[in-house]
Amino acid sequence: MIPLKDTFWQAESWQQQMSGMIRDPERLLARLQLDEEAQPETAAALKQFPLRVPEAFVAKMAIGDWKDPLLLQILPLGEEMAEHVDYVNDPLEEAAANPVPGLIHKYHGRVLLIASPTCAVHCRYCFRRNFPYDTNNPSQRDWQHALEYIAERPEISEVILSGGDPLSPPDEYLQKLISKIAAIPHVDTLRIHTRLPLVLPARITQNLVHVLSHHRLHTVMVIHCNHANEIDSATAEALGRLKNANITLLNQSVLLKDINNEADTLINLSRRLFDVNVMPYYLHLLDKVRGAAHFRVNEEEALQLMRAIMAELPGYLVPKLVKEEPGASSKSPLALL
Ligand code: SF4
Repeated sequence: MIPLKDTFWQAESWQQQMSGMIRDPERLLARLQLDEEAQPETAAALKQFPLRVPEAFVAKMAIGDWKDPLLLQILPLGEEMAEHVDYVNDPLEEAAANPVPGLIHKYHGRVLLIASPTCAVHCRYCFRRNFPYDTNNPSQRDWQHALEYIAERPEISEVILSGGDPLSPPDEYLQKLISKIAAIPHVDTLRIHTRLPLVLPARITQNLVHVLSHHRLHTVMVIHCNHANEIDSATAEALGRLKNANITLLNQSVLLKDINNEADTLINLSRRLFDVNVMPYYLHLLDKVRGAAHFRVNEEEALQLMRAIMAELPGYLVPKLVKEEPGASSKSPLALL
């Protein structure tokens, strides 16, 4: 039995917390006092998509609970190896919208840059869990191609930093990249999609906030929070630092079986987000990525949930229920009749 860990990581820098993240299921189970003997089969799933989770996120999980909604998001399971028709490596067909390495151009007016192939956490439902980061891992030299692509297209007004997690690289790297984007006159908005305020709130240092907010672009940050338990006091403080720098904060969630497919869970999530100055934005149906079929909630159930949360919440706290379809000109809202 691996000894239980204490809270030593709270005194560590974000870089130390990132390099010391849990990668071994045994260590994770010991940390949560879960019986190794009851451990589900993980070996094959681990090999396909390794375990990665920082101590700061594990600290938000309940001790001794195999059904904890945060644990279920990151625990490799044998079910991931089952093959399902329609569940594929590239469910959004991003390969067809990848004109230069590290850049994805699906929608009019905005492009997505893979700012880093690295995540601080591996979410088992991730639609990029099979993404070819080896051929889409732009070095600073390769940025030039992506930036030229943007500069040649005056209709592009928004650049979205994605990944991996775009806040994984050091501040200096981000500062250089953002200054190059800001130098393209027709770009007016920088959007950042990240899980780091939730899984590693120490990453949101004052210096990072300065880098993200001191340029001429509007800055929008979309955190990817699926359950209210992800928002503890450290995350609330990190979001407060971002809010104080006038960064617009939005949330998108994925509707996940046994994690957030209850009306009360979604209502609590919206209310908790509002408490910490984050507006609910999208609730996504799961993208049909190979390895994640066991998380799927069907459209009919999703629509029923939406009706239930609309009956409880003011409209501004109700996220839009959407799905993403390859080749579509935007996300597709699901009609509520
Ligand atoms: S890209 Fe986002 S959803 Fe996918 S594993 Fe990384 S943090 Fe999780």
